[in-house]
Amino acid sequence: MPIYFSASAFTSPDAATVPLPASNSSSSPLSPSYSPKSDAAPLSAATPGDILIPAIPPRDCPLQAVPGPNGEDTLPTVSSNPVDVEHTLVHAVLQHAIEPDGRCAACDDDDLVCEFTETGITCGPCAVRGNDDCLFAQPKFLLENAADWRNDYLHDQVHRLMREVQLKRLRPESFALEYRRALNHSYSIIQGAFRRFQILRLASRGLTHRGYRCLIASSTDVPQLGRLIEFGGETGLHKAVLKRAGERVAEIASGSA
Ligand SMILES: [Zn+2]
Ligand SMILES: [Zn+2]
Repeated sequence: MPIYFSASAFTSPDAATVPLPASNSSSSPLSPSYSPKSDAAPLSAATPGDILIPAIPPRDCPLQAVPGPNGEDTLPTVSSNPVDVEHTLVHAVLQHAIEPDGRCAACDDDDLVCEFTETGITCGPCAVRGNDDCLFAQPKFLLENAADWRNDYLHDQVHRLMREVQLKRLRPESFALEYRRALNHSYSIIQGAFRRFQILRLASRGLTHRGYRCLIASSTDVPQLGRLIEFGGETGLHKAVLKRAGERVAEIASGSA
């Protein structure tokens, strides 16, 4: 069962700049200390008072887009063992945003109020305007935020494991193994998030266009369609929808409707 992660997570000479968790056992002889410079010493050499903390992987490793058949961004495979798409932490990944109050690019361009709900779901204005390319439904947006979530998760896990060592519930020499488990689990969670993202995208992609197509096909009212075209043009409704409305007006006018 291959798990894809950066081997440098354990061998990088870069320090893990993780602050020590608050300790109430500093006088304990087993109280561990961080050794940020892990240049040469293997992790297995850790002693009770000297735990080597693996570096958090670089942000985009392995969380970077893979070019699809048409050059489009697709998601990498980071685990062969994804958790369920309804897993609580899958929701956490998809609801994690580096800028939770940030606007998507389209709303930012048009100075619209924008709301982020979950990665894989377009924002409200993009949904009603038929813009399936909302930033919030883009693989790159997911990858950047998933990397940020992973790093937070790993920091939390390091703190948790440090505390376990401090409480003497975990042997220092088992620290690296437990950290590796946490790292692998983070990728199982992220892979589950990737699957949920794909499901959300498939379910919602083209939905607005289909809805407008049905509404337009149902209408025999030329002034009503004219108002739709006028309002849609002002609010940035997708050109394909405006075109369909125009074609419908022509159909009605020619008596073929
Ligand atoms: Zn938006
Ligand atoms: Zn949007």
